[in-house]
Amino acid sequence: MTINSAMYEYGSKSSIIRELFAYGLERKKIVGEDKVYDFSLGNPSIPAPPQVKEALLGLLEEPAEALHGYSPASGDPQVRQTLAESVNRRFGTHFTADNFYMTVGAAASLNICIQATVCEGDEYITFAPFFPEYAVWVENAGAKLKITPADIKDFQIDFEKFESLITPHTKGMIINSPNNPSGVVYSEETIERLSELLRAKEQEYGTVIYLISDEPYREIVYDGLTVPYVPNYYADTLVCYSYSKSLSLPGERIGYIIVPDEVADSKRVMAAVAGAGRALGFVCAPVLFQRVAALCADVPTDIEAYARNRELLYNGLTEIGYECVRPQGAFYLFVKSPVPDANEFSECAKRHDVLIVPSDSFGCEGYARVSYCVSEQMIVNSLPAFREILEELRK
Ligand code: PLP
Repeated sequence: MTINSAMYEYGSKSSIIRELFAYGLERKKIVGEDKVYDFSLGNPSIPAPPQVKEALLGLLEEPAEALHGYSPASGDPQVRQTLAESVNRRFGTHFTADNFYMTVGAAASLNICIQATVCEGDEYITFAPFFPEYAVWVENAGAKLKITPADIKDFQIDFEKFESLITPHTKGMIINSPNNPSGVVYSEETIERLSELLRAKEQEYGTVIYLISDEPYREIVYDGLTVPYVPNYYADTLVCYSYSKSLSLPGERIGYIIVPDEVADSKRVMAAVAGAGRALGFVCAPVLFQRVAALCADVPTDIEAYARNRELLYNGLTEIGYECVRPQGAFYLFVKSPVPDANEFSECAKRHDVLIVPSDSFGCEGYARVSYCVSEQMIVNSLPAFREILEELRK
């Protein structure tokens, strides 16, 4: 092979989610747009808030050289300061521009944080069910990803199993709350217990253990629930944030990393973040959208439509007889497969033109993810098909 075989593997095997989505597009051409119930992707279905358009229109009046020129590699200092002040107001923190590094979304934020921290022989730990790309990013950084099995009782953390995975080689962990795919929000008790355990392990091993908080769904929570702000609980936290979901801007590729001053040796860590950004080519995130993010820093996320969809789908499916994890945040419903093999469930659903993602690739067998960032009408129309699927599988 004259090319990098690992990269070839990543590039030639598309994810099951992408495969289902591509299948759906083809299938729609045959049976009609409204006859395929595609719940495969996490693409926000509500438009970006009107403030985004207003911000863009205002910015377009500015001199093009400045607007479309490079910013410093870590992002526009004024943008970073504005975002820091917004986060401080909401979470009682004391960040400044120096704690922020602008990125092209959470995917870049995570890649940078992992690359910036990993040394030879290091391990990262995550918690099933988890976003499958973590495995690619950790492996690509030369580290090993260990997976804490899901606690299917409530999808919080199984601390006994988790503790058994921590070793002196543990460089960090990745948590994602609100969670894709379970929709669960880690409680304050979970975050406190996690923080205590990590502090104890840091002391025991004399190491630093980073807690990467992947939080693109931070604003998408229901029933007035609060998502604990992780840096307020654990000092060695690196925040990976994105506007893909909160402002419905996934195609614009904009987000940030926060390295709090409380992180051990934080200046060196921030330098390593900048270095990883440089090595990966993730410098100078799109300037136009850095500016939009700053202008929309305090715009609340409109979750009304997702909240309605959650009720409709959760109630609809449980009434039919499905067992579902009640989502507290994000826009995914994790449905227990009526048969042991979730692939069989997904395949059967596919025959009924319902596209749902089997949970194996999330590191937790026996479930399927149903993304409800779709139209309300599609959910209503799909329910009879969900009923037929259950009847067929129960036969
Ligand atoms: N992390 C999680 C848990 C996600 O669900 C996603 C996208 O769906 C990402 C990271 C990547 O987000 P972004 O589009 O900001 O790169």
